[in-house]
Amino acid sequence: MSETFFVTTALPYANGPFHIGHIMEYIQADIWVRFERLQGKRVHFVGADDAHGAPIMLKAEAEHITPEQLVARIGAGRARYLEGFHIGFDHWHSTHSPENTALSQDIYRRLKAAGLVYSKPIEQFFDPVKGMFLADRYIKGECPKCHAKDQYGDACEVCGSVYAPTELIAPYSALTGAKPVLKSSEHFFFRLSDARCVAFLHEWLAVAGHVQPQVANKAREWLAGKGEQALGDWDISRDAPYFGIPIPDAPGKFFYVWLDAPIGYLAALKSYFESGKARANGELRSFEDFLTAPDTRQVHFIGKDIIYFHTLFWPAMLHFAGAPYRTPDNVHVHGFITVSGAKMSKSRGTGISPLRYLELGMNPEWLRYYIAAKLNANVEDLDFNPADFLARVNSDLIGKYVNIASRAAPFISRHFGGAIDYPGGTEALTQRAREVLEQVRASYDAREFGRAMREIMAFADRVNQEFDARQPWVLAKDPAQREALQDSCARALYSFKTLTCLLAPVLPAVAERVARELFGLDRALTFADALEPPRRIEPYQHLMTRVDPKQLDALLEPPAEPKPPAAAPAQSAAEAPATLSLDAFKQVDLRVARIAAAEAVAGADKLLKLTLDLGTETRTVFAGIKAAYDPATLVGRLTVMVANLAPRKMKFGLSEGMVLAASGPQGGPFLLSPDAGAVPGMRIS
Ligand SMILES: [Zn+2]
Repeated sequence: MSETFFVTTALPYANGPFHIGHIMEYIQADIWVRFERLQGKRVHFVGADDAHGAPIMLKAEAEHITPEQLVARIGAGRARYLEGFHIGFDHWHSTHSPENTALSQDIYRRLKAAGLVYSKPIEQFFDPVKGMFLADRYIKGECPKCHAKDQYGDACEVCGSVYAPTELIAPYSALTGAKPVLKSSEHFFFRLSDARCVAFLHEWLAVAGHVQPQVANKAREWLAGKGEQALGDWDISRDAPYFGIPIPDAPGKFFYVWLDAPIGYLAALKSYFESGKARANGELRSFEDFLTAPDTRQVHFIGKDIIYFHTLFWPAMLHFAGAPYRTPDNVHVHGFITVSGAKMSKSRGTGISPLRYLELGMNPEWLRYYIAAKLNANVEDLDFNPADFLARVNSDLIGKYVNIASRAAPFISRHFGGAIDYPGGTEALTQRAREVLEQVRASYDAREFGRAMREIMAFADRVNQEFDARQPWVLAKDPAQREALQDSCARALYSFKTLTCLLAPVLPAVAERVARELFGLDRALTFADALEPPRRIEPYQHLMTRVDPKQLDALLEPPAEPKPPAAAPAQSAAEAPATLSLDAFKQVDLRVARIAAAEAVAGADKLLKLTLDLGTETRTVFAGIKAAYDPATLVGRLTVMVANLAPRKMKFGLSEGMVLAASGPQGGPFLLSPDAGAVPGMRIS
């Protein structure tokens, strides 16, 4: 059992702060890392920012800063979230680093030497104004099938057709509006279709534990080439201008961001070793010796949206690059997080804001527990349901777990000066602690965290029932029952210690406080402590408060107090009447609109000029949202507009409607967005 783990989570793209999906993944991985450490395993847990690619380059350009400055700014904001939710990465690095450049170029050279890299010219759209090749997401035009306007270069969001950007009618660059021209350029490809790759991947996928069975099936479908389609080779190069790692011996060519992003796991590990932190964690081997050791386990936690990269390209790249590189031992895939059943969207930023959660003073361990209680080892989505969150945290953590110590400890302090004795002996207690420990350990080990939490709470129920049955508050009144009182409270506190050890991967801060404040230990608890009867306690101190429904409301509800509509030329800001007839409401024609263009208005401090695509027509609307939105970030997103508002002549032009936004004392305006699936022109009712 001397295996040492190297654990990563997917690298977040460094163009914005963490969202709740990141935090969920990190909590899952962190629980597993803490679990392994509690049973004595050594773990190296590293993360990094995914810093390269066109979106970061263009965003930095829009902000008139360098990509390095943008990445540094985003990177500087990470610690607040990680510390806030007790996520204990040993090291945090960036793919824009010397380590990653060296490793990516080394792996590329090895793949090339193995005959798995080739180049060929491809024709691609090029923006002559911007002087750059355009990825599909930066090309728009008319759908060749249904003729919807302003569709992206790879698929139509109106009719669902998939096509090549060259099939678009009247294509234009989403960056400049210029008409793109076809231009040829030499690209480099990784030969994933090579028989050696396919054979290796089938072998790798067949090993139990490398990936979950449903993930292996998905990967095999791709390997077989879905339908008529053969397994494609992978275009790994991009032309300058590009923010990335230069390809050796190929001036003006850079690695596609998805090539160097997973190599960033290794770059982060290398930087961790070279920083001396690995040594401080008891790891005395070098980076290369550690990677090549037979007892090393390389474990990746990822979301289901990036299975393709992590189960095909990544293992193949590592295998054919050869030692010291090793293929992943486990790729653990999780589903998405939804909020009250609705999919969160990265691009639209919906869902729960992790920062707001912390700012509201909500306990991070509530969220850790709730996520643990809902996670299993399958690739299933996890729903954050506010009522369920409140009920589970309050009933399980407060009503079951904390309740044991808060009731039993005061009797021991008051009547026995803090000394714990076991008149009934400890053998049977240790035996039942061992049974629950083994059960819960197996569940954690299988990443069945929800099952582990149910087993823990079932044990807590049993302890509470036993405590209630002995009625210590009655025993305490009768000096003749002193021994019975001691025994009932001692049993409860021993079990509380066991429970705390079992919950420690999920509730690290509470476990630390219990160890120090209640049991007077000068070290953290391990699983071995679960079987050690406590012999004395310090006076009980309050451990955790209940979830306040008001905090949940503040977390989830949009700001409620209406301000004069920020998003439109001010209408008379009359108080809303108490009721409105349905017929009156139906007179408002609310529509889903796509923001086709957004620009500042010369001479207006607050206004943005929006071009709204309603599917069948476009409208110009002047909206008072300049303070809250960078126009570049609005282009392409969906919002909601009042389509039958009488046009208003303004100083800057005619405003043909208004967009809807929320605002209140907490901030704003916040533009409304429909859920995924809505398309421009849809009626809202
Ligand atoms: Zn279409």
